[in-house]
Amino acid sequence: MNFKDFNLAHEIVEGIDSMGYETPTPIQEQCIPVILEKKDLIACAQTGTGKTAAFLLPLIHKILEQDLVGKGASVLVIVPTRELALQIDQQVQGYAYFIPISSIAVYGGGDGDSWEKQTLALKNGANVIIATPGRLISQLSLGNIDCSNIRFLVLDEADRMLDMGFYDDITSIIGYIPKERQTLMFSATMPSKIRTLAKKILSNPVEVNIALSKPAEGVLQAVYVIHDHQKLELLKSLLVNKEMESVLVFSSTKINVKQIAKEFKKAGLSAEAIHSDLDQKERETVLSDYKNRKFQVLVATDILSRGIDIDGIDLVVNYDVPPDAEDYVHRVGRTARAEATGVALTFVNHDDLYRLKKIEELIESEIHKIPNPDWLGEGPDPNDVPKRDPYDRRKFKRKGFDEKKRTGKRSEVKKK
Ligand code: AMP
Repeated sequence: MNFKDFNLAHEIVEGIDSMGYETPTPIQEQCIPVILEKKDLIACAQTGTGKTAAFLLPLIHKILEQDLVGKGASVLVIVPTRELALQIDQQVQGYAYFIPISSIAVYGGGDGDSWEKQTLALKNGANVIIATPGRLISQLSLGNIDCSNIRFLVLDEADRMLDMGFYDDITSIIGYIPKERQTLMFSATMPSKIRTLAKKILSNPVEVNIALSKPAEGVLQAVYVIHDHQKLELLKSLLVNKEMESVLVFSSTKINVKQIAKEFKKAGLSAEAIHSDLDQKERETVLSDYKNRKFQVLVATDILSRGIDIDGIDLVVNYDVPPDAEDYVHRVGRTARAEATGVALTFVNHDDLYRLKKIEELIESEIHKIPNPDWLGEGPDPNDVPKRDPYDRRKFKRKGFDEKKRTGKRSEVKKK
């Protein structure tokens, strides 16, 4: 199949060409015709599948077809994080390069300037608004957005938004949007609360399901079964003097993230950390420097695991196993975006073997275990899998533990 087969406006096809896309991805093949036919849609697709273009391309076409360019807000995309909002905004600018469509990313946490800028763009009637729920509600309640012409509503990463507690915000936002609209919902997973929300806001939706819960093909996955105190040395040996341009290291705790970045710098690697202690400007700077290859290794908490689109990451390392098997899929999805290839390595300690088993069940395949290099010494026995999750929340709650404190303590990087 070819992009021309969708009969999209020629300016859009030119935009796609200039982005270097040759053929549509499976999610695009399935979603674009449904959206063009004005149907509501619920799509189960993870990031890395090309889902953003799957909704943006037909919506930009609709804006053109219905002569809505320059006539105020017609598309509203609600997303969980500011990073995702900015990234989708950039994609609008790319696909609509040859069309004078205006778009604005609306998100909180910035300085007064960004509030002013966002408010002005909203008052001027940007065609496409991409917004996080909290900031969007503030703008709506101040009457800064004329919603009367919004014809297309997209909820991206809906499961993530519900996990973050945005259910009530989303339903109150929808109260502002005209009932006569086309609604599209994208979600990496389909738990029952997503189905409930879908029933409430979609009308006779077409359902599209793309390879649920499997990392994109082309990701070479492997694990090291090692003790916590071996992790840092192993990681350094994997990176020092290696010709990898772009490496992303995930850890669940910001203590680890900061410590790993510090140790890398000491070892002569160019590395930066990104975590929730940085303010928004700092996060954006780190992210854009990383995208522009100004440094080699980005060490991140899960704020980056979903939705962030960075091309050409050579290696993703999970310094620990994420609590949720789905998060593993998101983390390794940062490499091998679309049709590229990449490598994802995961460090698994004894307690994490249970979670590894859950991940393997979810992705329906066994992940290759790489033997420890001799100099590192032996790791835990990979066959000694705990019968229950040692971090089981309920158990620790009963005992008065807090999971975050527990994980923070558990895998704290040993200071040298
Ligand atoms: P997404 O799943 O929307 O986060 O997209 C993942 C990546 O795939 C982004 O870098 C897109 O630019 C890229 N992409 C989207 N569609 C295509 C396509 N048809 N061909 C090649 N790359 C694509």
